[in-house]
Amino acid sequence: MSAQPHDDLSRILLVGTQAFHRDMRWIQLARHGFAFVPVAKRHCTLDTDSTTDIQAIIYQAGARTTDTLAFLQTVANRQSDLCIILVGQNQKPDTVAQFLRKGAFDYVNWPCSLTRLTDSLISGLNNRQTFLEVRNLSGDLATANQSLAHERDTLKQFNQRLAGLNQLTQALARSLKPEDVVQALFTGVPSLIGAELIGLVRTNPEHVWTWSKGGNQEREHTLKTQLLGRLGRSPQRVTSGATTLRLVGSRPIPLMRSEDAIPAHPQQEAHAMHDIPLAIGPHAIGVLHVQRDESQPFTEDEQQLLATIGTSLSLTLRNADAHQDLQDMALRDPLTGVFNRRALDEPLMRELKAGLRYGAPACLMILDLDYFKTVNDRLGHTAGDLVLRELASLMTDTVRDVDTVGRYGGEEFAIILPHTSVEQARPLAERLRNLIETHAFNVEDGTVRLTASIGIAEVCNPAIASVEDWVNAADTALYDAKAQGRNRVVVHAPTPLAPVQAARLCVAA
Ligand code: GH3
Ligand code: MG
Ligand code: MG
Repeated sequence: MSAQPHDDLSRILLVGTQAFHRDMRWIQLARHGFAFVPVAKRHCTLDTDSTTDIQAIIYQAGARTTDTLAFLQTVANRQSDLCIILVGQNQKPDTVAQFLRKGAFDYVNWPCSLTRLTDSLISGLNNRQTFLEVRNLSGDLATANQSLAHERDTLKQFNQRLAGLNQLTQALARSLKPEDVVQALFTGVPSLIGAELIGLVRTNPEHVWTWSKGGNQEREHTLKTQLLGRLGRSPQRVTSGATTLRLVGSRPIPLMRSEDAIPAHPQQEAHAMHDIPLAIGPHAIGVLHVQRDESQPFTEDEQQLLATIGTSLSLTLRNADAHQDLQDMALRDPLTGVFNRRALDEPLMRELKAGLRYGAPACLMILDLDYFKTVNDRLGHTAGDLVLRELASLMTDTVRDVDTVGRYGGEEFAIILPHTSVEQARPLAERLRNLIETHAFNVEDGTVRLTASIGIAEVCNPAIASVEDWVNAADTALYDAKAQGRNRVVVHAPTPLAPVQAARLCVAA
């Protein structure tokens, strides 16, 4: 687009002597569209009001080249877009070239024709107009570039988040136990959104897990107390240093609002926090709580991201539960809840190997109720079931945590006692036998009294080289207990071996 000096008045600063001003005035008379602002060289400053709207300067280049160069330099220093036309007499070509290099648009040798000077002025003004337009366009382009760079950064960040989210959801999907789920969560979420403190609350079964940047136990304890408060639980139940807390029962957990973010103690720092409800369909199953520095409140994008994590987490926790249920179904006896026969194979084999390799003592007890058939016959199968269930509880409550109780079949139960010699196993068996004898088993219409026979076999026994041998030894002892009149404990007595057989067993061990 070219300048329109005829339409709008172009203001031109006229710098020179009075005679010069007079000489130039005829251009104004001849051409409309120019408004001259005459100024003497010594008064020439570009800072006065009269020079603010100036678009061009016609400068009288005198004999002192340095004055002209200094003037051009002053204009250049201001990074001005003014069009400068020098008018002079008999300047040398080198000097003129120097003027042009210093920023003059044109040099006109005086006197000259009207056309020569006005043409120069018009083309200088057009040139300036084009320069201004290009400069504006460059500005627009720079702004567009800037916003493009911003978009690119946002996209990059989004991509990184997406990759992180993908990694986290994959890690969650791979986790089959709640502890693994929590581990994946506490690894993924901090790197994804820079969390400093995380709490996970689950209902049914109730659990509270916490994580903090740098393992800040005090912050974790405070959060745990808050989360427990929301479960309606007493903070005293938090054991110091423990990251997991198992509680019994279930009730809905209220979500924390941002007002709750105000710390309980005034000296405590405030933090940006966000609660993500966890749910399967309409059923609330917990809350994920995330905190970080107050100066970084969670953006809507981050809240959205956390909501996605919450959905994935809810499904993963449900899957972990389903997996646990399946495991339980595969390894537990449905009637009594203790391990089934198949589940006993692994601990039996483990103790057998330890016994054979390192001589580590372990005992196997097999317990069988005496005349149990009569309970079924007299009171019915359901009553028999109730007795078996109660017996399983009695046994589980009596043995140590390290011992394994399983139902071997019918009303026969096995108890594996690791790191236990016969001398230690026998009193335990006696206590159990006595407990059963003195216990009143509840059935629908009253109570039943029963006794039990127990056979014990120690694994470190030259006659035992396999799990089958070990079970048979305990069974033999049980058979002896029955034969000796029932309601008693019998320890398997190893029969002395022939020398050749003993040697073979030593080699096998
Ligand atoms: P003993 O003193 O010789 O052991 O006599 P007993 O009557 O207990 O004989 P035994 O151990 O052979 O009897 C097993 C009985 O246990 C037979 C069966 O009716 C009963 N039984 C096995 N499994 C179950 C069960 O799951 N529920 C119920 N109610 N009874 C069972
Ligand atoms: Mg029996
Ligand atoms: Mg039996």
